[in-house]
Amino acid sequence: MKIFDSHTHINAPQFEGETAEVVQRAQALDVTKMLVLAYDKPSMQKLTELIKRYPGIVYGAIGCHPEDAARYDERLKMFLEQQLHGAGMVALGEIGLDYYCSVPHDLQKDVFREQIELAQKLSLPISVHNRDAFEDTYTILQEMKLGKLGGIMHSFNGNAFWANKFLKLGMFLSFSGVVTFKNATDVREAFMAAPLERILVETDAPYLTPAPNRGKRNEPGYTRYTLEYLAQLRGITAEQLANISYKNTKKILRIK
Ligand SMILES: [Zn+2]
Repeated sequence: MKIFDSHTHINAPQFEGETAEVVQRAQALDVTKMLVLAYDKPSMQKLTELIKRYPGIVYGAIGCHPEDAARYDERLKMFLEQQLHGAGMVALGEIGLDYYCSVPHDLQKDVFREQIELAQKLSLPISVHNRDAFEDTYTILQEMKLGKLGGIMHSFNGNAFWANKFLKLGMFLSFSGVVTFKNATDVREAFMAAPLERILVETDAPYLTPAPNRGKRNEPGYTRYTLEYLAQLRGITAEQLANISYKNTKKILRIK
C-alpha cells in the first residue's frame, strides 16, 4: 500500500541529523510521499535539501504561520514567492488563524488574506491552519473565493457541522493523530460525515503523535497508525483508505 503524509515538518530542528532514518522508517511503513512545510529561512533551506535528496518522495510548501503574522512584510512576501517557484514546491502554507496564540486577530486575518492572494497569483493550493477560529477561517475562505485551486484543512479538528461547511467550499479535510485521542469524539464524527474523496491523512510531525504513542515525538511513518485507525472506524481496509487518500492528496497538490 502507498500512504501520503499530507503535513509534516521533518525539516524541524527535532529531526536534525536524522532525516535519512526518518524517511527510511516511513518507507518501511508504506508512507512513500510526504508534504513538508517550511515556516522560516532555516526550515526552507533544509526543505530545499530534502527535495533534492528525495525527489518524488518529499514535496514542499512554505507560508507565514499565523503565530508569526507580525513578521509578515513585503520582504517576506517576496521571499515566499521566490521559494514557491522552486522545484517540488506544490502548495502555500501553512497559513490561517490561531486564536489560541496572542497575536492580534486583525493582523492574523490580514496576513491570511494576503497569502491567499499570493496563492491565487501563483495558482497554488493552500494548507490551512485553524485553531479556535472556525468562524473567521470559514468567512475568509468564503470571501476570497478559492475556486478550483482549493486547499487542505490541516489537522482538521472540528465537528461534523464545520466539516460540512468547509467541504462545501471545496476544501479537503486532513486528519492527524488527534482523531485517535480519547476525547476527540467530535473529530471522529466529522470524519464519518466526510466523503472519502475529500479525506487526507497526516502526522504534523514532530507534533500530535497518534495513540498509542501519544506524548512521544511524532514522525511521518506514524501516518500509518492514524490511517489504520480511520479505516477501522469506517469499516474499510487500510489499503482502501490508503489508496483513496493517496489519490486525493496527489489531486489537490497537482502531483502527476
Ligand atoms: Zn504544521
